[in-house]
Amino acid sequence: MEKKQQLYEGKAKKVFATDKSECFIIEYKDDATAGNGAKRGSIAGKGEINNRVSNHLMQLLEKQGVPTHYVKELSATETAVKVVKIVPLEVIVRNIAAGSLAKRLGLEEGTPLKKTVLEYCYKDDALGDPLVNEYHIAAMGWASEADLKVIAGYSFKINETLSAYLKDAGIQLIDFKLEFGKTPAGEIILADEISPDTCRFWDIKTKEKLDKDRFRRDLGGVEDAYREVLKRLLGE
Ligand code: UDP
Repeated sequence: MEKKQQLYEGKAKKVFATDKSECFIIEYKDDATAGNGAKRGSIAGKGEINNRVSNHLMQLLEKQGVPTHYVKELSATETAVKVVKIVPLEVIVRNIAAGSLAKRLGLEEGTPLKKTVLEYCYKDDALGDPLVNEYHIAAMGWASEADLKVIAGYSFKINETLSAYLKDAGIQLIDFKLEFGKTPAGEIILADEISPDTCRFWDIKTKEKLDKDRFRRDLGGVEDAYREVLKRLLGE
């Protein structure tokens, strides 16, 4: 597959056109941002780790019946993915209170939730990705009710699959963010990435953070934490 012109550069990835109309190539970067771009830095080896981890988890999800954009890993930091139109929502799945939910509801981080919580944020950096609900989504036409039902169903299925899989690697899945896209044929599929940038991973025993919170909160050991996740999931 031939890499053509760059279409887009985001905070953590670049997207390129290819000679195949049905594929893009995404290239993962070491760049890291937090607080909607307020904090900037770089995490050595992150691009490679997120590429490998995300592809590994997407292949696992495919086997469990969740369609994803994954096509082929092309290099340490590059992957061919299916062309989709991104649904402009961040879908957040929460098992344990942390981050913005803990803050919003005055909960101590680590408080178990009696039921898995699904949240939607409207993807708009200028607005700071505001929290929205099903009514806002329908009123604004960001996704149809039918598509949102499919998205919610996949999100719960992804949570069950990943929680069980990560548990075997000694990792507790606290919460995570998903993005979905629509193929030209109208199919909703999982897009973007699933990595320590987009999930909260805690060591089951020690509760040590193995994710981007180490960068967001200046906890140190950022590279080591990302590498530990790679090692536990892919054995490398
Ligand atoms: N998340 C993300 N991108 C965002 C916002 C959140 O990947 O722009 C992930 C984050 O890593 C965490 C989950 O979504 O696993 C929930 O994040 P939260 O709403 O608690 O926001 P935060 O406190 O991280 O800003």
